Amino acid sequence: MNNYPKALEDLIECFSKLPSVGKKTAERYALYALFSFDESDIIDFKNALDSVKTDIHICSSCGNITESNICNICQNKERNHRQILVLESVKDLITFEKVNEYKGIYHILNGAISFSKGIGIDDLNIDSLTKKVKDGLVDEIILATNATLEGETTARYLYELYRDYNIKITRIAHGLPVGGDLSYADEMTILKAFEGRREY
Ligand SMILES: [Zn+2]
Repeated sequence: MNNYPKALEDLIECFSKLPSVGKKTAERYALYALFSFDESDIIDFKNALDSVKTDIHICSSCGNITESNICNICQNKERNHRQILVLESVKDLITFEKVNEYKGIYHILNGAISFSKGIGIDDLNIDSLTKKVKDGLVDEIILATNATLEGETTARYLYELYRDYNIKITRIAHGLPVGGDLSYADEMTILKAFEGRREY
């Protein structure tokens, strides 16, 4: 165990909270910040960390992240607001947007039903989607939850929830690896999965 001054230990501790960053990497980052960052880099870091929590909100319509009440995608009149692609996370939305083919809007569940983790339907962001369905604002719902037990369970639940409404419900094709997280798939795989979607 290295005997670093407390301030450096604290910084190492902060970096080790990042995903895929082990103790050694956290040490490297902290030492880099100590010796190679100038005052303005530190201020930029502090400010960016501050505003990521204070300036970013959840879109009240779809669950995407935004700096206003409604996100850019929901505000975009060129997009088809009657076609809604349902995803587990904002990370998945970013992956889909990179492909630049999808012209509908999204709905972010913020998770998936998981019996082992105790995540139930009430923990997910579903109400605003259900309201759109009930108000007759939807032609197609594309279920693009992950190809995991949790993702499949959630897709099934949503299908059951909306099947009696006069809307098309599709599930993206699984050229995606089983157990796969959407956000790790490459753009071509995403595109194929989208184009190959089938009626549920
Ligand atoms: Zn939105």
